[in-house]
Amino acid sequence: MSPLTAPDCLFCRIVAGEVPAEVVISTDTMVAFRDIAPQAPVHVLVTPRDHHADVAQLAAADPELLADLVRTANEVAEDLADGQFRMIFNTGTRSGQSVFHVHAHVLAGAQLGWSPA
Ligand code: AMP
Repeated sequence: MSPLTAPDCLFCRIVAGEVPAEVVISTDTMVAFRDIAPQAPVHVLVTPRDHHADVAQLAAADPELLADLVRTANEVAEDLADGQFRMIFNTGTRSGQSVFHVHAHVLAGAQLGWSPA
């Protein structure tokens, strides 16, 4: 089945292979690629092939796909770091979201400096 797509969506174009990216994991459902402006030694964006605007919309529409995304994030961290990672979903412009195709920022590979605890 073809993935859900949206016109003029940068990450739809990356998952389709129309825009180059440094892909680290590619499955039937997910593409994980390195962020072009990394904020940590490992900074990978984990992106479902299906277009959903943000994590809340993904959770409502397809919770199993969200679980799949989390499993893929863990796999990225196992492959590229020590299996420990921070996962961030910016949700809405005030949070800093700039690409409205859901993606998890997976940050790893260093002692990260800030914690909400
Ligand atoms: P957000 O601001 O949470 O929507 O995250 C979007 C992320 O996409 C930013 O961290 C950008 O650096 C990253 N980004 C934008 N364009 C590309 C691209 N062509 N390849 C890889 N990462 C990108």
